[in-house]
Amino acid sequence: MSGIQARLNAISAVINYKPSHAPLNFHDTKPTEIFGSNVFSEKVMKDRLPKAVYKSLKKTIDHGEKLDASIADVVANTMKDWAIEKGATHFTHVFFPLTGMTAEKHDAFLVPDGKGGALAEFSGKLLIQGEPDASSFPSGGLRSTFEARGYTAWDVTSPAYILENPNGTFLCIPTAFVSWSGEALDKKTPLLRSNQALSKQAKRVLDLFGVETKLPVVSYAGPEQEYFLIDRNFVFSRPDLLIAGRSLFGAKPPKGQEFEDQYFGVVPRRVLSFMMEVERELFKLGVPVKTRHNEVAPSQFEIAPIYEVGNLATDHNQMVMTTLRSVAKRYGMVCLLHEKPFAGINGSGKHLNYSVGNAELGSLFDPGDTPHDNAMFLVFCAAAIRGLHKYGAVLRATVATASNDHRLGANEAPPAIMSMYLGEQLADVFDQIKKGKLKNSKSKGVMSIGVDTLPPLPMDPGDRNRTSPFAFTGNRFEFRAVGSSQSIAGSQVAINAIMSESLDYIATELEKATKGDPKKLNAAVQTLLQKIIKEHDAIVFNGDGYSEAWHKEAAKRGLPNLKTTPEALPVLESKECIELFTKYGILTEAELKSRVEIYLEQYAKTLKTEANLVVRMATTIIFPAAMRYQSELASACANLKAIGHDYKMGTLEDVTAKLRGMQEAVAKLEKLMEHEAKDIHAEATHMCCKVLPAMGDVRTYADALEAIVADDLWALPSYQEMLFIR
Ligand code: ADP
Ligand code: MG
Repeated sequence: MSGIQARLNAISAVINYKPSHAPLNFHDTKPTEIFGSNVFSEKVMKDRLPKAVYKSLKKTIDHGEKLDASIADVVANTMKDWAIEKGATHFTHVFFPLTGMTAEKHDAFLVPDGKGGALAEFSGKLLIQGEPDASSFPSGGLRSTFEARGYTAWDVTSPAYILENPNGTFLCIPTAFVSWSGEALDKKTPLLRSNQALSKQAKRVLDLFGVETKLPVVSYAGPEQEYFLIDRNFVFSRPDLLIAGRSLFGAKPPKGQEFEDQYFGVVPRRVLSFMMEVERELFKLGVPVKTRHNEVAPSQFEIAPIYEVGNLATDHNQMVMTTLRSVAKRYGMVCLLHEKPFAGINGSGKHLNYSVGNAELGSLFDPGDTPHDNAMFLVFCAAAIRGLHKYGAVLRATVATASNDHRLGANEAPPAIMSMYLGEQLADVFDQIKKGKLKNSKSKGVMSIGVDTLPPLPMDPGDRNRTSPFAFTGNRFEFRAVGSSQSIAGSQVAINAIMSESLDYIATELEKATKGDPKKLNAAVQTLLQKIIKEHDAIVFNGDGYSEAWHKEAAKRGLPNLKTTPEALPVLESKECIELFTKYGILTEAELKSRVEIYLEQYAKTLKTEANLVVRMATTIIFPAAMRYQSELASACANLKAIGHDYKMGTLEDVTAKLRGMQEAVAKLEKLMEHEAKDIHAEATHMCCKVLPAMGDVRTYADALEAIVADDLWALPSYQEMLFIR
């Protein structure tokens, strides 16, 4: 659908919008009762499984012990009965291929009983292992087509759950997805491997400090998800939003976000209804979503959960994205998770709050009140400092996508240069360590708000710094460069790997220095911390990450600035990166190379689709509108001439010049798209350096035309309509 009528229909549909289904009721069905009701949770397992089986499962879930396959039949049967009670007819292994999507293939529980009837069946084998045809998922050369087989393997640490449809329900089992020879074809497998590595190295350090824990040490993640909501009718009349998820055209509206009147503003009614339903759906799935608010840009919002163990948080974030998309439809809207749907206003990110610890120890990044006493905390922080300095480019590469390129480096998101913000207190502590005289830490103090009726608030050890990609925020680090549409797995894998390598180094050095004598630990820690901070404090930067001065300073410090995806991705197949990942059994060289290839391909394909859209829209939507206007203006001129006015109309000249400019820009873009590159690296670079700017040139002319062509001829909904009419 397109044309001016579609645009007008869209506006009237928004104005006349009425909810199409009965309102939710949180009074009769309370959130506390709903929470986890569709999850095969530990409570369900405890209630329904034989004691010995439950205990064995718990050992795997809590202590990371090997799964005892002999219990699978019992678990499968119990799971099936529970699911059927909840109306399930089918089950599916859910997995996370490298496309970033959530994949599922349903199978019925039903099997013929051979006597003309049917039985519901679900064996341990079906629970533990699935065999989807993997040939249609990208493998980046890991698998030849004749070895199309892929396996999904049950991830016991992420509970099974039920998904609902008005016509029935089905059982979902989170799994890892590997090739027939065991290579990771997904995002989950490396994440699980990286957690094992992290636990092993962290425990060596804990041992030195005499800290015992029965549980593995894991990473925790709390992803803050940003998104846009746009009325569906607008999206249907914008092929760019529909297909590419971002607008490829659109003149800047007279009002954008400059009034700063949106952030934390009152949530519009329809959007709030949508949020409530999203939360209700997620509560059923046991996803602990907590925070909702308006974001900075018009029509932009955020949903944030309470942090969880990294693997679970990752699966849950996938569910959040799926739920946002599907519930939006019920409210007549489209949820855009693209990192930059609209030029000129903020894009969407996904701040990844990250810490290391476990249920017994809490966060190992928690400094306590006097950080200088807390040597162990400082050691874990130093590990992060050293790791980010050594491998910042690797972490940068994990957030390299075509869509995120529009965000990183623009003045709204942290730059592509990786640096670490420590905050005043911690920076001061490390400064003292560097100088070799650690005595006190700047006290937290009490902050007075200057209003007598308000209580004094304890001051955070550091102010916030929104411009830093990797910021210490009290008991965790916040990695702010992840894109809103991305899985949070990749960045966690990299941070876990980096932490493992640094903790390994630290443990080895301390073991050497103390030779088993705990009395020598303090001195050894002091020496080592000083060495680390001296060697690696180039990564620490507490100033304004958006400023031009920082870009210059970072270059002086030798910090890489990988501005685009084709520059950043090859880091994953560098010697240092291969060594890092193979040493800790997280990814093999072949697995890393396959990722580079797949992600570069995705990059090139994304840009190719967008370029095609630009050509198509410019030719079939924008050109006709401008031509019609041109001919209206021309006949107006001719009419005036006929009655004796010798009138030279500036607008006609202007439209004509811009139309010609746009046609030339389209022709240039089409020519560039004919280019055949020698390999995927060259193709991605061509797309980045040639095709993308050429798309921008077409847009410049088109947007200029939008600002002068008669509004009643313009078929594309405008920025102001899409962003401000609700
Ligand atoms: P802000 O927008 O101020 O950064 P939010 O409340 O929106 O804060 O999000 C902070 C996120 O950090 C939440 O998901 C929260 O659960 C998570 N978080 C808090 N503590 C930790 C921790 N120790 N490890 C990981 N994530 C954490
Ligand atoms: Mg937030």
